[in-house]
Amino acid sequence: MTIIQKFVKNIRVWMGKPPRSEQRIIIIGRENQKRIIDSFPSDLVRRIKNFSQSVPRNKASTDELIGMLYKLTDEVQEVVGKHAACRKGCSHCCHISVPICDIEAEFIARHTGRGLRKVRSNGPRPIDSFSMETPCNLLDTDGTCSVYKSRPFTCRIYHNLDADNWLCLEPNWNTKHRPMYGLQPLHDAYNAIMERKSKLHADVRDFFPPKVSSNDITQQ
Ligand code: SF4
Repeated sequence: MTIIQKFVKNIRVWMGKPPRSEQRIIIIGRENQKRIIDSFPSDLVRRIKNFSQSVPRNKASTDELIGMLYKLTDEVQEVVGKHAACRKGCSHCCHISVPICDIEAEFIARHTGRGLRKVRSNGPRPIDSFSMETPCNLLDTDGTCSVYKSRPFTCRIYHNLDADNWLCLEPNWNTKHRPMYGLQPLHDAYNAIMERKSKLHADVRDFFPPKVSSNDITQQ
C-alpha cells in the first residue's frame, strides 16, 4: 500500500468511518448490477449473443474475431463504466493476476508493436505472488495502460462495482469478495475464440517483458 493509500485509509478512520463491511459491499454491488442490467441496450445483448454463437462456424480469422470481441467489450464498458468505481489512473487491478492466452498475446503484440518473450510455464501464477510491487509490464509510469486500445479481455471486463475505490486501497483485494458484472455470452465468445488455436495461457507478465527505458540502455 502506498503512502497516499495509507493516508486516505487513515483519514476515513480518523473521521469515524470504519472500513466498509463485506455485507455493505455486497448490497452496493447488487444495486449497481441491477442498474447495469436495467440500462443495457437490448440490441447490444442480442449482438453479443449472436456473435458468441457464431464463433465456431465464423470464417473470420482469429485476429478479426478478437477485434470484433474487443469492440463489443468497448460497448459494454460504455454501460458498465457508468456504474463502476474504476477511474483512469487507478491501476490497482494492473498489479494482480492478469491471465491471458497465447493468441491474445500475439494479437496485442501485432497491434501495439510490443515484443513477446517465450513463455515457459503453462498456467496462471499463484494468487499470493501478487502485490502492489508486481505491476503489469504493460503499465506506464503514470498509472495508465500502454496498450489500452488493445488491452486483454481480462482487463476489459474487470470492474469494481463498489461505490468508490475503497476496496482497491486494500492490497491484494482480488483475494476478497468484490462486486463485479459478468455477461456470460461475452465469456463464451472469448473461450470459443481461444479454443480455436490457443495452446497455452499464462500471466500477461510472462508474455510481455518489462519495457527497457532509454536510461537502462545508456547504463548497459
Ligand atoms: S494490460 Fe493494461 S490494463 Fe491490463 S493489467 Fe496490464 S497495464 Fe493494466
